[in-house]
Amino acid sequence: MLEDAKPQPAFARELSKEVRAYVLDRNGFTCQMCGAVAGEPHPYDPTRKTRLHIGHIIDKSMGGTDDPSNLRALCSVCNEGAANLTLDRPSHEKLLIQIRRATGADQLKVLEWLIKKFPKQADEISKHSSY
Ligand SMILES: [Zn+2]
Repeated sequence: MLEDAKPQPAFARELSKEVRAYVLDRNGFTCQMCGAVAGEPHPYDPTRKTRLHIGHIIDKSMGGTDDPSNLRALCSVCNEGAANLTLDRPSHEKLLIQIRRATGADQLKVLEWLIKKFPKQADEISKHSSY
């Protein structure tokens, strides 16, 4: 039997360890579709421990590349397409836990998004916290 006759999984197998580690770290070891965290019980199926894979944002069949900018962390549930968006809204405590775990760059993206969404409030807060 030939070595390369083994069935290949659907996710990107050909990526280097370094690229995988980079994408997982950049995504805060969190599934970019459902927010499940690597190693923690999966929010849709708590009997499963969350395992993360690297998925293409634009599928390779659609011209997507293996560049880290086209890659994202996806849990096995989302990778299988089984997840839906019926998850309860996260509480601010849960959101803060996720944000604290994220990389500085991702935290800044959250900040930018919040400032864009709440420009008046952001202005107020910055006025009151000028030490
Ligand atoms: Zn997921």
